Amino acid sequence: MRIVTNSETETKELGFDLARKLPSGTIVAFYGDLGAGKTTFTKGLAQGLGISAQVTSPTYTIVNEYETGERPLIHFDMYRLHSADDLFEIGWEDYLERGAILAVEWSERVEEAFPEHTVRVHIEKDGDTRRVITITGIKEE
Ligand code: ADP
Ligand code: MG
Repeated sequence: MRIVTNSETETKELGFDLARKLPSGTIVAFYGDLGAGKTTFTKGLAQGLGISAQVTSPTYTIVNEYETGERPLIHFDMYRLHSADDLFEIGWEDYLERGAILAVEWSERVEEAFPEHTVRVHIEKDGDTRRVITITGIKEE
């Protein structure tokens, strides 16, 4: 699925709509440069999961957990990791078993860590406000 958005709001809406289609335990792996809109998309995902807490980038913490919504979200930023080998330290295997939606920014860093059924969201920046977003791996009912 390929969608073009023309504002931050449109990208959030896309995340919102996607959240409702995701079974528990799904990994949403983001790909795209700094400023592409990975965190923005994740904010929409969180809203779609019934999370009212403010979602902020886990750039320094690597992981932020949101447990207070209707469905839990765990948000990762793998920018500072070198490879999937570094995942052991952050307890990745335990997160996989939580049944939460896992949103992963900088998936490029840890590509080997993802199971077969991973939803992939590629965001390509095209000017200040245009984003070309390609979503693959969604299981349609
Ligand atoms: P990333 O997490 O990929 O580094 P962010 O979501 O933090 O990116 O930042 C994206 C920036 O681009 C925000 O400042 C946002 O307002 C801006 N922006 C402009 N147009 C869009 C769009 N269509 N979709 C998402 N973000 C957009
Ligand atoms: Mg980000």
